[in-house]
Amino acid sequence: MSVLKICTKSFAASLGRQSERSVKKIYRISSSFRTFSTEGKLEYDLVVIGGGSGGLACAKEAVAQGARVAVLDYVQPSPRSTKWGLGGTCVNVGCIPKKLMHHASLLGEAIEDARSFGWRIPGNAEIDWLAMRDAVQDHIKSVNWVTRVSLRDNKIEYVNGRGRLADANTVVATLHNMKEVLLKTKNVVVAVGARPKYSTAIGAQELGISSDDIFSLEKPPGKTLVVGGGYIGLECAGFLNGFGYPSTVMLRSVPLRGFDQQMASMVVNEMEGRGVNFICKCVPESLSKTPDRRILVKWNTTPGANGGSGQGEDVFDTVLFAVGRKAVTDSLALEKAGVETHKETGKIFTTNEQTNVPNIFAVGDVLHRKPELTPVAVQAGRLLARRMFGNDKTLMDYDNVATTVFTPLEYGFVGLSEEESEKRHGPENLEVYHAFYKPTEFPIPQKDMSNCYIKVICLRREPRTVLGMHFVGPNAGEVIQGFSAAMKCRITMEQLLDTIGIHPTVAEEFTRLTITKRSGMDPNPQACCS
Ligand code: FAD
Repeated sequence: MSVLKICTKSFAASLGRQSERSVKKIYRISSSFRTFSTEGKLEYDLVVIGGGSGGLACAKEAVAQGARVAVLDYVQPSPRSTKWGLGGTCVNVGCIPKKLMHHASLLGEAIEDARSFGWRIPGNAEIDWLAMRDAVQDHIKSVNWVTRVSLRDNKIEYVNGRGRLADANTVVATLHNMKEVLLKTKNVVVAVGARPKYSTAIGAQELGISSDDIFSLEKPPGKTLVVGGGYIGLECAGFLNGFGYPSTVMLRSVPLRGFDQQMASMVVNEMEGRGVNFICKCVPESLSKTPDRRILVKWNTTPGANGGSGQGEDVFDTVLFAVGRKAVTDSLALEKAGVETHKETGKIFTTNEQTNVPNIFAVGDVLHRKPELTPVAVQAGRLLARRMFGNDKTLMDYDNVATTVFTPLEYGFVGLSEEESEKRHGPENLEVYHAFYKPTEFPIPQKDMSNCYIKVICLRREPRTVLGMHFVGPNAGEVIQGFSAAMKCRITMEQLLDTIGIHPTVAEEFTRLTITKRSGMDPNPQACCS
């Protein structure tokens, strides 16, 4: 009898005969025989539930530290039946397709700009949605493939199954054929991420879509209502508008809640200037199909809100809900191991990524009150694995994490908002430097520069430590990334102003700040492009 048969038989015997085929499947996708113990059970040092940014980073690092690791990944199709491959949200329905569509949208703008710079471009440029979507999806599939290969190369056991806990040392994987297999493990990392929520409006789930669907939509979205003013909503409305699809954003409260509100208003002003319509302080009440297969949306003022756009209705081709995301912990049976979660959000409470159960950990979007960003999940996963299986004791630092909102005019920042700085330090202890600026490339194509704005918040007392850096303008992500390293080194205002800029760039504007809000002086640029 072959080694495979002996192992499958003894393991299957412990699970019941019907599991034999499932075990064979697991074995086949396993890269080696080494994970079977003498008792015939699959045994690991670590089982990671969730093969997204955080889970994969943690698994790879754990293997590099010598651990025996399995990763489970399973994608629950969206209510519109959209599904995708290995790699999690970022690769499939998040950062990557979003950035590519944002870029595609900026390219349309660049074609128009190019005419002003002397390029002869015949006719009007227009987007071919299907061609653009296919290019994006093809890229994603190639990333899925590379991810799969890298798991094999790293000798990580990959199980394409839905995980749940049986107890603190046993993970149950439900495979696609509904067969179940048990994975015995010393440690578990939960990295299942989050999924979009829908509003409670009648017909929302049946007729609406979410960010899970937009990047692979079968037909051009046409006139679109985006419900939600968070960063995902604004980014989607931004690129759709850039493609030429009339876009409306419906906001329940304020745009980019939790972000610096002055900067948020710049982002919204810019979008409005480009033709995005905003319906403020309203929520959808119902969605229904019109005879010509479009979607009639009726809305009303947000309960308890002052002002707002009031009651109304309109017909759209697509309604995209971007009203927040919910951690997908419901189906994990975490209670079987006694893992504590937040009652409403389902998020997991941790201290340094460790839950209240000592051998169960969590990373990424599933964590309670931590930034929901890919690099955060990756870094937390990697450091956790080093602490678990190596000698490194470095803890994840969740402070001063830089990020960027990829709206048509991008908004990047690192550190505290002005509101949060005031709350923590008191307005009297702060100095806020600010300036409007003119990107060198903007005047020739006569682009609107009224929202190109930067702001630095620092403490007034010496050594005038910088608390927050905010930038609205082109390539904000690229600009802020470098300054985030400076913030990590606790840069002071003097050091920032002592830095020699690279001319002519937009990033150099941070080194040229002279005007404080307190002075009341006009922060508009005095001369053009100098
Ligand atoms: P995920 O990447 O979501 O991975 C979790 C995986 O676990 C998924 O594959 C899921 O299907 C799987 N899973 C769930 N339950 C189970 C189970 N029971 N068993 C097995 N597998 C399971 N972040 C940025 O930093 N920059 C951006 O520009 C950015 N843009 C974004 C744009 C959009 C539209 C969205 C939605 C998100 C964006 N994010 C961005 C956020 C980023 O995608 C997430 O922070 C990141 O993916 C979180 O990683 P994670 O490992 O926690 O979870």
